[in-house]
Amino acid sequence: MSVLVVSEQAGGAWHGMSFETIAAGAEAAAALGCPLQVAVLGSGVAGLAAEAAAKRVSEVVVIDDPALAAYTPDGFAAAVRQAVEQLNPTLVLFPHTYQVRDFAPKLTAGLGKAFLSDAVGIAVDDGKLVFVRRLFQGKLNADVTPAGDAPYFASIQSGVFRADALPDGGAPAPVRNLDVVIDPAQIRTRPEAPFQEAKGAVDLTAAEIIVSVGRGIKDPENIPLAVELAQALGGELAASRPICDNGWLPLERQVGSSGQTVSPNLYLALGISGAIQHVVGMKGAKTIVAINKDEGAPIFEIADYGIVADLFEVVPALIAALKE
Ligand SMILES: Cc1cc2nc3c(=O)[nH]c(=O)nc-3n(C[C@H](O)[C@H](O)[C@H](O)COP(=O)(O)OP(=O)(O)OC[C@H]3O[C@@H](n4cnc5c(N)ncnc54)[C@H](O)[C@@H]3O)c2cc1C
Repeated sequence: MSVLVVSEQAGGAWHGMSFETIAAGAEAAAALGCPLQVAVLGSGVAGLAAEAAAKRVSEVVVIDDPALAAYTPDGFAAAVRQAVEQLNPTLVLFPHTYQVRDFAPKLTAGLGKAFLSDAVGIAVDDGKLVFVRRLFQGKLNADVTPAGDAPYFASIQSGVFRADALPDGGAPAPVRNLDVVIDPAQIRTRPEAPFQEAKGAVDLTAAEIIVSVGRGIKDPENIPLAVELAQALGGELAASRPICDNGWLPLERQVGSSGQTVSPNLYLALGISGAIQHVVGMKGAKTIVAINKDEGAPIFEIADYGIVADLFEVVPALIAALKE
């Protein structure tokens, strides 16, 4: 019995969600009372395996093969399948990345198992694993218990578990190479150069500080005020949906159920009401500060600090104080 977290890297750099998923795996392993194993896949990934082994995990297993140098669904599904067959875990967890969405259904269908995607919580109830999944754009949470025998397969939503909650271990965890056989003839696709985001595209999921604007900003001419505050704080600018729908900011800056899920240290919400579709994308922030002139705005229910005031008075004062 073990929990196996399949981490993700590309070109020798971690995907930021890998350690969030290891944190989720640590909670699940503690609840099940079993070891936590982390799989690192790729070619030439010994350095990354050592980094994973520095965390409080039971073991790191390395699947290092030239056929895994670049991502292909055939190669990765074959590699993880063999790892699962050799390790026989109870639970296999993945970060809910684009890559996982691509190969995990193939892997799990091949094993005749269900794939529980985009979970936002894991618990053990009476010895049974229970996953929490959001339904209807985050309006409802459903508890889902997988039927049948282990192993169970699930992916974890970005921003739900905190990577920084994962403690470093004492001595490094043991690192073991797994032998897998990947026949290059099995790989039916030839990867091209990875997709490059548009130049200057922002990765809100990696931002430590986010200043987010809502309809309370009133006019696109007022956006520079929020930009100035974001710059004074060294943070990124984000927005609620109406701001992006209006074309005042690009879609890549939208936070919420149809935008990004973020988990910064500080989320400063300016003139955002706190609709559920927005809140699901940012409630994982460590500290939430809301400025809203309506004291009944739902955003105050989840804010750590609330300022009931006109943002056009508070924001310039904040900028002036930060510049001092
Ligand atoms: C299927 C679906 C998906 C959706 N996906 C998303 C999503 O991904 N992200 C998202 O954000 N929304 C999403 N929405 C929309 C969501 O339901 C809300 O409509 C939206 O979040 C509201 O944005 P807002 O808070 O900026 O605007 P409003 O709800 O209009 O709130 C504006 C707030 O600003 C305050 N305010 C006004 N003037 C000032 C001032 N001078 N100073 C301080 N405060 C002021 C007001 O009191 C008010 O609380 C989705 C909706 C649907 C149906």
